[in-house]
Amino acid sequence: MRMVQVPLGERSYDIHIGENIWPAINEIWPQRLKPGQVLLVSDENVFGLYGGKLIAALHEAGFSVTPAVVPAGEQSKTLKWADTLYTAAIEAGLDRSGFIVALGGGVVGDLAGFVAATYLRGVPFVQVPTTLLAQVDSSVGGKTAVNHRLGKNLIGAFYQPQLVWIELETLSTLPKREYLAGAAEVVKYGVILHEPLITLLEKQWDGFIAGETPVLTEVIGDCCALKARVVAEDEREGGLRAILNFGHTLGHALETATSYKYYLHGEAVLAGMVLAVQLAQRRELLTEEEARRLLRLFARVGLKPAPPGLQAEAVLGALKQDKKREGDDIVFILPETIGKVRSFKDVDPQAVSDVLAAYL
Ligand code: NAD
Ligand code: ZN
Repeated sequence: MRMVQVPLGERSYDIHIGENIWPAINEIWPQRLKPGQVLLVSDENVFGLYGGKLIAALHEAGFSVTPAVVPAGEQSKTLKWADTLYTAAIEAGLDRSGFIVALGGGVVGDLAGFVAATYLRGVPFVQVPTTLLAQVDSSVGGKTAVNHRLGKNLIGAFYQPQLVWIELETLSTLPKREYLAGAAEVVKYGVILHEPLITLLEKQWDGFIAGETPVLTEVIGDCCALKARVVAEDEREGGLRAILNFGHTLGHALETATSYKYYLHGEAVLAGMVLAVQLAQRRELLTEEEARRLLRLFARVGLKPAPPGLQAEAVLGALKQDKKREGDDIVFILPETIGKVRSFKDVDPQAVSDVLAAYL
């Protein structure tokens, strides 16, 4: 088992990564959590696959478990479902000596984390992420949220978990498309912070895609360590944390312009990263060779073509919309070399239109 620490003073916590680590729950969780009631939040898909294993391990460790299962998908990330979970917590007699566990992807993690942050003004919380995206991104860092009908993630809290438990076995059932969407965020960490991760992915790509345990342990552990470093320096997104938004400026605009119906988040981010690398190449930040190397790796993740009929104006309109919300200029995070990015407020709009037109 590999362990990565998120160093946040007295709120520091560990991320545990390994295959078939269910039995070790017995040994490790009680070191951090008192024996008591557990509200286990999951979605219908994941609960059917792994709920039984987690409940058995929690019983073995001396915890009493009440499951609360929500439908799979983004539509469960609402105050209405949070309210259903509050009811389940009250009915289960959950108090501050108990805790909430999220077993699932980013949807379940964000929703259960928000409930943990607000129920009784905060009860302890554990993340058991089961998608690649949740394992390398959403389960680490303490951002929790639900959606509002007027926008995604508008209601939320910064609230750190007590521990993160990454059971690699869960990836064996994750649909390939979801896996590759998560892989886009994996590649992102290499581009923004750590060239050796790009080299590792180039060398071990087949093992990574096949889900080989040693490769996954190294890659996922490295991503968690990189995110932990960023979060430790900037927990509440005052500065450095913005580099995690590499590929997300145009990625979000693509998601918005297609009403969140065409791309998975990671797919839109991958397209956004392709366009950002092309912008960086035009500004001669990246060399031809560096840009080619990144684009080759992005191609292995698999760039999704734009939907037929998507107009550049719609994407540029969504970009400006985003800008209004932030009350700021359009900010692009661009690589200066592989492993180092910086934010730019002066990207030429014509250059943005050009690279976008080439993609559409
Ligand atoms: P998701 O939670 O919807 O999971 C995707 C699908 O895979 C679902 O249908 C789910 O039931 C299924 N699934 C999950 N694990 C499985 C497994 N092991 N085997 C088989 N099927 C499985 O999606 P996601 O991509 O994990 O998360 C997306 C959410 O994460 C968004 O709401 C986004 O806003 C949020 N997010 C949060 C942060 C953060 O910092 N908090 C960061 C990035 C994304
Ligand atoms: Zn993302």
